[in-house]
Amino acid sequence: MGWKIYASVVVFLFGLVVGSFDNVAVYRIPEGMSLWSPRSFCPHCKSQIAWYDNIPVFSYVLLRGRCRRCGEAISLRYPLVELASGLLFLSVFAKLGFGWRAELVPYLFLVTVLLVVSAIDLREQMIPNRVMYPSIPLGLAAMGAVALARSDGGIFLRSLAGLAIGGVPLALLALLIPRGMGMGDAKLAAFTGIFLGYHQLVAFFFAFLTGSLGGLAMIVAGKKSRKSRIPFGPFLALGALIALFWGRTLADLYLNLL
Ligand SMILES: [Zn+2]
Repeated sequence: MGWKIYASVVVFLFGLVVGSFDNVAVYRIPEGMSLWSPRSFCPHCKSQIAWYDNIPVFSYVLLRGRCRRCGEAISLRYPLVELASGLLFLSVFAKLGFGWRAELVPYLFLVTVLLVVSAIDLREQMIPNRVMYPSIPLGLAAMGAVALARSDGGIFLRSLAGLAIGGVPLALLALLIPRGMGMGDAKLAAFTGIFLGYHQLVAFFFAFLTGSLGGLAMIVAGKKSRKSRIPFGPFLALGALIALFWGRTLADLYLNLL
């Protein structure tokens, strides 16, 4: 019991630190900037941020959400992304039974890409190739490693099936109705399919369900008109998370109903 709590705290803190890097990616990738240099700076006054002002969540609270130099408000997005990353890492660790599993690194990679892509899609209404192009082969390699570790080639075959189940229908939709769906959505669904296999169908079900409800809510609230584009990436990510954590249960429930 003591070890589980200790390991959970370490995984949560690791998630916060990765979340801090996610924020760098969310800000810099749409700007076409390098992820590695320069060091973190305030987007307003451009002054470098000292390490003690760059501690995930805690620095935001200590600084009361303002830059130490210029006093400009820091977007609430920063601590929220960090916290979300920490909680997602902890959830993956719990899902895998609080112990080392071959799936741990691949699933942490999955939730990290989902968080970064959702935040970028919400901000910029686009899913960047700079994230998706390296992530798809990396995801395949990661699930290939899981298949090797488990000596179960079926795992990799299900990843390939999931890639097609996720990518092909949305790619066709994007070609047929270019105003609705984007190719970025197809790449994201292909990516999540690698990890989810046939449960990508569960992901799609919840992506379209929450996407239509969310879109409707935004139109009713007057935030979007019927013609404006509502980013679908966050809903694909939400569906993928539901499928990752409860896919088996939901698929069984559905099959029992039939
Ligand atoms: Zn500043």
